[in-house]
Amino acid sequence: MSDRPILILGGTAEAAKLAARLMAQGYRVISSLAGRTREPAKLEGEVRTGGFGGARGLIGYIARENVSLLIDATHPFATQISDNALVAAATTKVPFVRLERPAWHARPGDKWTSVSSLEETVSAIPTKSRVLLALGRQHIAPFARRGDVHFVVRMIDPPEVPLDLIDFELELSKPGSVEDETTFLTKKRLSHIVCRNSGGSASYTKIKAARDLGLPVIMIDRPHRPGTYTLPDIESVSHFVDETLGSLRT
Ligand code: NAP
Repeated sequence: MSDRPILILGGTAEAAKLAARLMAQGYRVISSLAGRTREPAKLEGEVRTGGFGGARGLIGYIARENVSLLIDATHPFATQISDNALVAAATTKVPFVRLERPAWHARPGDKWTSVSSLEETVSAIPTKSRVLLALGRQHIAPFARRGDVHFVVRMIDPPEVPLDLIDFELELSKPGSVEDETTFLTKKRLSHIVCRNSGGSASYTKIKAARDLGLPVIMIDRPHRPGTYTLPDIESVSHFVDETLGSLRT
């Protein structure tokens, strides 16, 4: 195995699977986590945790660790770290690729309103509705101005500071099966879902349940990432790595 590691910017299920895949192919892998999740899923290979200190910090880390290839496998909505990765790759000239799961597309029966910012999302919610807010805690504040709406805020870990919404309840859980989501949406008498177009299967169950129940979804579109070479799955990224670093493999 080459001493020069591949650095995966992670925090997603795909990043964890990619790390395992590249390890199995004989590469040395360092996965990087922001450190936001209290109990992150177990990762194969080496793991480092916490911010780098902006693009400059990431550039320094890549140089110090003699990183051979950089993979941005962060969440589609994690924009800052992805911008930093792009700058760091351009500066250090390490080969760079982004792994990004494809977005969801509306299917027959879906009632989606597409929005592109949190502000637009807040305005798109009808008055007196009961809304499942399936967003990270750092995105909740703009909804505070909608005192006319009942929010059910679903999160995995409890928020560190109290939410300043006016009318809300907190639900600490992960998305379940389509049946679980259907039961949840019905029991809470939810009329709308607000979520981001994250893609992937784990959080798609609520979208399917909404379709089955005829519930409208206010769907926040992904940020654009022009200029980043992006591949949609682990298979194609692992081919890219083989082609790029083949000579370093044992
Ligand atoms: P962000 O706004 O793009 O990142 C904010 C800062 O957190 C970055 O500038 C960086 O700090 C640090 N950071 C983020 N990801 C990192 C990583 N993988 N390794 C080391 N430092 C990292 O990201 P975010 O939206 O807060 O998401 C944080 C992490 O959670 C990401 O890794 C992402 O994959 C994961 N995640 C995010 C979401 C989401 O909805 N946004 C959902 C699931 C998982 P420095 O500038 O100091 O380096």
